Amino acid sequence: MPICPPRRISKTRKRKRRTHDKIVMPGMNVCPNCGEVTLSHTVCRSCGFYDGKQVKTIKEKKKEE
Ligand SMILES: [Zn+2]
Repeated sequence: MPICPPRRISKTRKRKRRTHDKIVMPGMNVCPNCGEVTLSHTVCRSCGFYDGKQVKTIKEKKKEE
């Protein structure tokens, strides 16, 4: 059964639809704590958060006076 789209979809419409199809690397996650991209099922490298908890303390390069 041939299916024909009734109308050509405009560039804008197509692009708008595809804004949701952004490719995030497979197995990648965005850290809810710091917003850094992390590997899923892995503790965040930049803040040490995993599953909403601080799992690891990250040594931050800060000059303590
Ligand atoms: Zn993080």
